[in-house]
Amino acid sequence: MIFLWCVNCSKETVKNTCDICGSETIKVDERIPVIYWCDECKIPLIKLQDMETQDTCPLCKNKISYLCVDLRPVFPEERLLLEIIKGCPLEYKDKSVWAMDNRYYIDGKTLTISKTEYQQADIDKIIKDLSEYKKLNDYKSFDKYISKFIKANSDRLSEIFNEASNFIQKTSQNYPEENVVISFSGGKDSTVTADLVMRALSNPSMVHIFGNTTLEFPTTIEYAKRYRENQPFSIFRIAKNNEQDFYSVCNDIGAPARMLRWCCTMFKTGPITRILNSLYPETDILTFYGIRKCESVSRSKYNRVEDNSESVKIQKQKVASPIFLWKDIDIWLYILGEEVDFNYAYRLGYDRVGCWCCPNNSTRAEFLSKIYMPEEYNKWHNFLIDFAKKIGKPDPEVYVDTGAWKARQGGNGVKAAQDVKIKFTNCTTEDNAKVFQLNRPVDGTFTELFIPFGKIAPELGRKLIKETIIIDMATNVPIISIQPFNQENFEYSVKIKVLNVEKPDDLL
Ligand SMILES: [Zn+2]
Repeated sequence: MIFLWCVNCSKETVKNTCDICGSETIKVDERIPVIYWCDECKIPLIKLQDMETQDTCPLCKNKISYLCVDLRPVFPEERLLLEIIKGCPLEYKDKSVWAMDNRYYIDGKTLTISKTEYQQADIDKIIKDLSEYKKLNDYKSFDKYISKFIKANSDRLSEIFNEASNFIQKTSQNYPEENVVISFSGGKDSTVTADLVMRALSNPSMVHIFGNTTLEFPTTIEYAKRYRENQPFSIFRIAKNNEQDFYSVCNDIGAPARMLRWCCTMFKTGPITRILNSLYPETDILTFYGIRKCESVSRSKYNRVEDNSESVKIQKQKVASPIFLWKDIDIWLYILGEEVDFNYAYRLGYDRVGCWCCPNNSTRAEFLSKIYMPEEYNKWHNFLIDFAKKIGKPDPEVYVDTGAWKARQGGNGVKAAQDVKIKFTNCTTEDNAKVFQLNRPVDGTFTELFIPFGKIAPELGRKLIKETIIIDMATNVPIISIQPFNQENFEYSVKIKVLNVEKPDDLL
């Protein structure tokens, strides 16, 4: 679908200028591209599904055919690893190798590696083979195919580049340059975002916030260092949680799991919020970050600019993503086509770089970590085994190695589970609200805990939902809403919503 959009008001419009604010609108092309393959050139072609052009390769004019929905290049380092797993070192050296998730495409033919193959692989032998064959491996064929790929998709590259640049300029037009910030994680998406923003605004001295979770890949730290050296005019701020140590917190409240991802708030969004608040107290700022639509199912509608939602953890911050509609292959087309430096982890075969302990990491990513960061991997693995024993799992090795630890939902067996509860989920339907899990029902004793914040005014709450309101002592304005809540898997929960407060996150 193609429509017009005002980035200032975050609204669809029918005209080239917005009815509300008068700014010039942008054209949004939400049509989703897919990957075609040219069997002659052995390269992927990015093509819009409903494009009425002929299905031919722009380079050789031969007929092309549909391959898959998205794709990433396989660098020679990862290709060698693949060959070693399959017992045929260097066999695909002269072939065009691409991948998506667990599926590889070798000259357009699929080859898969199963979860079991990864889990049962002989790691010591693989490490030995890698060092033996490394000397015979090179980038010759890879470079040849990549330059063909860039040439054949050059129209796509200029299209997405121009669109993103236009978006960046329009979004930032009402902000003074010094109030525009780049959120930098060391991953490929933020690499592209940072490059696009600096080029679009012709400003080499922008503020970057690097969120160092303290759980980063070693390659991410190296890349961040290199990035700083290559951007001598940029202002680089590191957001880091210096007060807490990941492993001690794990000991207290248990390892993070998919449903209990306390690590993101504590080690990533929290420190970033703190540093932005201290750099820009009471200032309107615009942060560019590299979130993409395809990464999250909840982002089904067009919300490339957000200023009043949960993803914005601080007041007065507007966040915007220039690469919102990009696919993996677009990211790589830009990085390779524009010769942008990137995190080495991608050459090794990681398709995302985040924390090495993330419960959302795939079996393949864990396999790669066993090979490429054995120190971090073993420390974490040993911690998980001890943790499994502590919470009484009969077969700790199995619990850890099958990934069952990632599905943990409650704090059973964990020391802190009996006392203070800090577990919460962001309320998905309302802003400034969080749902907390309790170990007993909401009653008078519970609401009394809110007395330090204001006066309890039960008469103001909506009876139907058993709501209690806390009002500000001085102004009598409602500031907190307490609502008993039903949540799957938890017996007792409460929704706490902050009202009419300038910094709701601080109060929460
Ligand atoms: Zn061709």
